[in-house]
Parts: sequence; structure tokens; C-alpha cells
Amino acid sequence: MPGFELFGDLERKEVNDVLDNGVLMRYGFDGMRNGHWKAKALEAELVKTFKTNHVQLVSSGTAAVSVALASAGVGAGDEVIMPSFTFVASFEAILMLGAIPVIVDIDDTLTLDPKAVEAAITTKTKAVMVVQMCGSMGDLNALQEICTKHKLLFIEDACQAIGGTYNGQPLGSIGDLGCFSFDFVKTITCGEGGAVITNNKDYYTNADHYSDHGHDHVGNDRGAESHPFLGYNFRISELNAAVGLAQVKRLPEFIAIQKKNYGILRQAIQNIEGVTFRKVPEGGEESYAFLNFFLPDLEVARKVSTAFKDSGVDVCFHYYDNNWHYIRKWDHLKNTKSLFPLSSEIEQALANLQNKSFEQSDHFIGRNISCLIKLSWTEEEVKERASKMVKAIKSSL
Ligand SMILES: *Cc1c(COP(=O)(O)O)cnc(C)c1O
Repeated sequence: MPGFELFGDLERKEVNDVLDNGVLMRYGFDGMRNGHWKAKALEAELVKTFKTNHVQLVSSGTAAVSVALASAGVGAGDEVIMPSFTFVASFEAILMLGAIPVIVDIDDTLTLDPKAVEAAITTKTKAVMVVQMCGSMGDLNALQEICTKHKLLFIEDACQAIGGTYNGQPLGSIGDLGCFSFDFVKTITCGEGGAVITNNKDYYTNADHYSDHGHDHVGNDRGAESHPFLGYNFRISELNAAVGLAQVKRLPEFIAIQKKNYGILRQAIQNIEGVTFRKVPEGGEESYAFLNFFLPDLEVARKVSTAFKDSGVDVCFHYYDNNWHYIRKWDHLKNTKSLFPLSSEIEQALANLQNKSFEQSDHFIGRNISCLIKLSWTEEEVKERASKMVKAIKSSL
């Protein structure tokens, strides 16, 4: 998945454009910048890449989720339904707005189970956020139907699924708002950065203003701009945007490499009895950023994970035992370890998590191994890796 693996002259040239004129900020300073508007240029590229009407770059993927929710009016006391398997950023971004993360079970797509979503809806529910984990997607038709029926916002966190599609539409462009990260380990990187995408003009205008202190961006004198509403600072810098501008042009190349490497690994393990794969909904095509497979039970999955490590098969994750991605290890969340006071509604919701079990999620995450697909492997390396994987899995079954 990581674009940083193939980092070179193209990226250097874009960054040097910015260094040469010295304007590191994305807004203003029109006279000094010699025509270089890297953030604006990257937004224009991403409009094409993600087949969407509007793109607002921000400082991170986490910021993208907060800005997306804020732009659609989600805030204090509103409930946002999210999956038990994701990155910690999902609940952080919700909590930052004073909203309440409502965590529900996943299914064999490795994200939201539509039945669990429907069961979690209350009068306070405002949004459903699907997290398109590990290069693939949820059952987007079913989730969209639920949102339409209950008049809820449908948000896609597509940070890990750049380049994946559903019925030919880029992931991230299907819900009311989509969120992307361009941090250092994502498919394309800015170093740090993120984007909110939407076809809704009002949400876009809100995102544009909110991510820059509420500035209305009218005219070319920042000091004279007015503030239609309160905002915050989630701006991306020109330096970061310059890196992304070089990377986005290479996205088709990155996806093609991922697909090839993924194909070799999948083919090698697919006939082993006991190995099954994560469900990709009909009409969906993965970004091939990860190869995800299931083993018969938790014990075998742990054995395979250890056998991979012992035989030098790196970048494969057993998320059940991982601190970052699965609710089982989110003790800081369950114990409300906050530096500052949270609202009593949030405290109550988090306290309830301590008694909640996620057996259905355990059933899938406990048996899942997720292997990152790298861009820099040679074909020999992929083939060698494939045979090591086969050996390690067979010896663990
Ligand atoms: C990386 C990631 C984020 C956060 O992105 P940052 O740019 O690191 O803040 C959010 N959600 C998911 C699913 C991610 O993988």
C-alpha cells in the first residue's frame, strides 16, 4: 500500500517548486508564488481521480473525518455508528466534535454488518460511518438503504481503500461525504494530509471554511475576509500538497502493481483447505492494498501469525492481538482516559462499552490475517513470499 516506497524525482520536483518561491501556505500570497498552487492543483486532480464534484484537502485523515461530520452538521450529543474494526482515528474524530461513537459489529466484509447498524439506530443517530478497511468495502447497497430509510448521513472513511471501486464508482464517492488520508503509510502519501470529498455544494463550502478558521475565502485579502461561522485550523501546507500532487499521478501505476502482487499471493494460498477470503460485495473491486484471509479458528490464526514471523513473512497482521485497530485492545477508550473532561453523555456511552461484547466481530477478526501488499517487491520476492506463506499456513493447520 505505501506510496512512500516509490518516492523520487517527481515528488522532489514538485516540492522544489514550492521551496523556490517560498510560499508554504495554500492560501494568499498570490504575487509571490509564481503560479504555484499545489493544494489547489491536487484538489483538481482528486476531483478527477475520485469522480466527485468537490474535494477539500485537510491536514490528515483524522481531520477529514471530523471536518466531514462537522460540515454536515454533526455535533454535541449526536450518535455516529461506526465499526468495531477500524483505526483509532474513527472514534477520535467523532469525539472531537462532542458527538458519540456507537460501535457495532462487523461481518465477513470486515466492516459494518448492516443488521448490527439497523439494531443500533436510536432517535439520536445522525450518521453511519462505514470504514472501508484494508482495501475493500462494506455492503454499500444495504448500508445506503438503511441510511435513506432512517434519513441518516452516510459517511465513508476510505482512508485505506484509495483506488477501490463499487459498481465502477471510486470508494469514498458513494456516501454523502468521503474521507481520505495521505499519511506516510497510505497508498498515496503527502507525508501528512487528508481529503474530504462530496457532491454536495453546501457541505463542500462548509468544509472549505471550517478547515480554515471559518474564512469565507472571498477576494484576495485574508485580513478582509469575513467569518460566516466558527471554524478551526485543519489546513494542509503547500509542501505536503506538492508531494501528493506527484503521487496522485502515479496512482494507476500503484494500483496495477498491488493487483499483480496480490494476485500471485492469493493464487498461492487459495487452494489450501481451511483458507477462505474476506467477502467483497458484488460489484466491488478491491484496491488490492491488502490480502485478507480467514483461518478456521483463533488458535490456528495465532499459529499462522507466529509462523509468518518466524519465517520472515513480514507486514502481515493478526488484528485480534493488535492495539490499534480492534476494540478488544482499546482500553484507553473503554476506560475514558481523557486529558480533559468529556460530556456526561459521552462518559456514559464509553462506560457502557466495558460491558458490551463483540462476539460476532471476534469471530471474524480472531480468524483473520491481513497482509499488506508492497509496491517495491520484485516478482522473485513475491513468489518466494508466496511459498513461505503456503508452508507456514500448512504447518499451522
Ligand atoms: C490512516 C487512517 C485514518 C487516519 O488518517 P491520518 O491521516 O493518519 O490521520 C483514518 N481512518 C483509517 C481507516 C485509516 O487507516
